[in-house]
Amino acid sequence: MGNQQSGIQILICDDTTAKKELQKSEDIDRYRALCLGDRANAGAREFFSYVPIHSSKNEFLQIENRLQHFCELVHPVLQSGLGIVKVIILMPTADGGMPHTRAGAVICLPMTLSLMKLNTFEHELWHCHQKRYSRWWKKFYEEKWNMTPWKGEFPSELANQIRINPDTCESGPMIWRQRWVAVPVFLSPTSPQLKDCAVWWWDNREKLIRKSSPPEWDQFFACNQVPAIAHEHPNELSAYYLGNLDTIGVQSTALVSLLKWLDNWQNEYKFMYDE
Ligand SMILES: [Zn+2]
Repeated sequence: MGNQQSGIQILICDDTTAKKELQKSEDIDRYRALCLGDRANAGAREFFSYVPIHSSKNEFLQIENRLQHFCELVHPVLQSGLGIVKVIILMPTADGGMPHTRAGAVICLPMTLSLMKLNTFEHELWHCHQKRYSRWWKKFYEEKWNMTPWKGEFPSELANQIRINPDTCESGPMIWRQRWVAVPVFLSPTSPQLKDCAVWWWDNREKLIRKSSPPEWDQFFACNQVPAIAHEHPNELSAYYLGNLDTIGVQSTALVSLLKWLDNWQNEYKFMYDE
């Protein structure tokens, strides 16, 4: 198997193994069950086929080699901390054709995306890292970003249109500065589409829904540096920042603290193992 200097080993699952791996992930994150049990999320995925694709060994090997090569170019923290990364190739329509991750640090790629760019792949690797070292990421979000898990309830008009995201569903909503909870929503609750979404903010102090980012949020996270949808969760913000360091201009306070934390990663977490 390809070059293993990076310490990451990419393993493309054949369709039989893929089914087993998806079931293992499902047992932990319950992503598909959560979607099926929610009217808007089930509707948005109604015509999509979330099934591993059957392909020739040769085709999978080509994808594997390409991704393995990418692994030599990604952040050193990823290279030293991920080990084996399983990749499942899904039908082109799976999850609206968007790459995503599942519990157990599995990357799922709809077939059309097997030729994706390095930036997108690195973004997914960060999600794997967040899942594998969730306790440490949680600690970082709390100490440096002032974000903690939020267990409260949204009003029904908001709760009924939340888009479930496999990259963040194990963590759940987070509250920033004890006040703001970013929420990914379907813009059309009657005809929900995965590609027609936005992020709104629940103001837990005033008990109001805000449809644009609060100014203090813009200042801390530098909203113009990443796509609007990235603001739905700190896992997305950090994956977007880190996957696009080559194009991000001015670094926000949030990004500066993230980079500093990662610089220390190798020293601080040298003896840390998988959870
Ligand atoms: Zn993501």
